[in-house]
Amino acid sequence: MQIKSADFLTSALNVAACPEPTVPEMAFIGRSNVGKSSLLNLLTNRLSLARVSSTPGHTQLINYYTINGIFRLVDLPGYGYAKPLRNNPHKFEQMIVDYMTVREGLRYVFVLIDSRHEPHLMDVEFVQWMRNGRVPLALVFTKTDKLKRAQVDKNIAAFLEATGGWEEDEPPVFTTSAKEKTGRREILEFMGRALEA
Ligand code: GDP
Repeated sequence: MQIKSADFLTSALNVAACPEPTVPEMAFIGRSNVGKSSLLNLLTNRLSLARVSSTPGHTQLINYYTINGIFRLVDLPGYGYAKPLRNNPHKFEQMIVDYMTVREGLRYVFVLIDSRHEPHLMDVEFVQWMRNGRVPLALVFTKTDKLKRAQVDKNIAAFLEATGGWEEDEPPVFTTSAKEKTGRREILEFMGRALEA
């Protein structure tokens, strides 16, 4: 798939404020500083579609971008900063839980994981929660330029092991480097196929 246009559509504070689900959505999520803005800019070939931060910030908004006029990239806020609630025992923000459980038109959630580290409990719990809820997910291991390929592969294997017991339902796995501009084609091709399906 080629990206011919990428335009900011809107920011939403919660799911009720999201635009009408008239076209498919591909959402991106990850802990702060994982490289999400850099990846969105790489995917869309824009230098500053999404803001790249040098210090971790907590923008608690859902940012929408229209791609080629036919689908949306959805930039979700980082997870894991909320206090657990009685009706939401996870530390995941209600807005994120709502988006993933009720949003019509949601095709895939790309969960970004920093490839440099061993499995982080918050990422593991989040992916397990998504899997239990049957949210369609793909894993994207970022910043692969920072270490050797063998170590990246080891960390990916450790993450799949920690999230546990995948069989034929193992999620698609991508590796990216915004610095070396790798992984873009694979993700865009995957999205293209998912949109046609
Ligand atoms: P976000 O908070 O998830 O949106 O992360 P950003 O895209 O703002 O990136 C956080 C920091 O990681 C910035 O200093 C980026 O320059 C850096 N970064 C992001 N992606 C990569 C990558 O692929 N390789 C390297 N070496 N640094 C990256």
